[in-house]
Amino acid sequence: DATPTTVTITGAGGQIGYALLFRIAAGDMLGPDRPVRLRLLEIPQGMRAAEGAALELMDGAFPLLSDVEVTDDARTGFDGCNVALLVGARPRTAGMERADLLEANAGIFGPQGAAIAHAAAPDVRVLVVGNPANTNALIASASAPDVPAERFAALTRLDHNRALAQVAGALERPAASIARMTIWGNHSATQFPDVDHAVVDGMPARAALAARLGGKQAALTWLDETFIPRVAKRGAEIIEVRGSSSVGSAAAAAIDHVRDETAGVAWTSAAVVSHGEYGVPEGLICSFPVSSDGTGYRVIEGLEVDARARARIDASVAELVAERDAVAARGLL
Ligand code: NDP
Repeated sequence: DATPTTVTITGAGGQIGYALLFRIAAGDMLGPDRPVRLRLLEIPQGMRAAEGAALELMDGAFPLLSDVEVTDDARTGFDGCNVALLVGARPRTAGMERADLLEANAGIFGPQGAAIAHAAAPDVRVLVVGNPANTNALIASASAPDVPAERFAALTRLDHNRALAQVAGALERPAASIARMTIWGNHSATQFPDVDHAVVDGMPARAALAARLGGKQAALTWLDETFIPRVAKRGAEIIEVRGSSSVGSAAAAAIDHVRDETAGVAWTSAAVVSHGEYGVPEGLICSFPVSSDGTGYRVIEGLEVDARARARIDASVAELVAERDAVAARGLL
């Protein structure tokens, strides 16, 4: 089927947008046989940057790129959209409370959800990258009641990939040798990067870490005191070293998320709607271990969760509940 897939990117004139566009046009997200039509959605202040990116896309002469359109109208931007990447968001500014940030973003993601419901293709899938991503996805989904909630996700694949990289570094093994990593909860500092089910070349990662670090207790100390905070605060570390936020790795993770969802994957992490799995309140957009058969992410159920993991999952879920309650209290859900 040579019908192009329509991909809409909001905030396409921004940093992450710029890193996404060329890889999507090259076929890295949807595969080498799938033509794409790009819709770049921006706010008026971002239009020139998006238009410039569109000129460069033209200059790439990408064989798979059938069309590029730049717009600041959401209905136009989501017209016929099959894959929506919601990247543009209102950044936190000095003195802003979390509730104000949630409210400012509700003003973006609510109307975008409504425009998706009105204009997108019946098979549309939505990935929210802009922060606070989980709650932004919840708001977009609530504003699109006719679109199944399972079609909305928030990105925790970057956290997942960062966790793979940290374990790979500690074991001096390639990241590709590690499977069954999990990120639970919110895409925030409360997230729980979990190696309890992970395997390294088929061996339990906890055992491999114990062998490497000098025993079970040393491995647990490394996980709680080094690994978890390092993964959760990696964004700040990148800003500190690079002088600006993570862009290439964030774009790469968004591409991984969509590629694996559509091509199929045995185990990764994504924030998807809860149906009550692992005691997470129904309706929250929470990161879980997920698999896909090519038709959408499903939570991998039946994993054993010990007391340490339970406490960390509960803490991050409590933050998601508080975010949901804050937007609901302001009448935004
Ligand atoms: P970026 O492209 O760098 O980031 C965009 C969003 O991605 C931010 O919300 C950012 O969150 C988030 N993000 C998620 N994961 C990461 C990560 N690992 N590292 C860094 N960021 C991450 O921002 P720019 O300011 O360069 O571009 C934003 C664009 O969006 C602008 O062009 C603006 O005009 C546009 N915009 C469009 C809107 C729309 O289409 N309606 C609405 C608002 C803005 P965080 O803030 O936490 O860093």
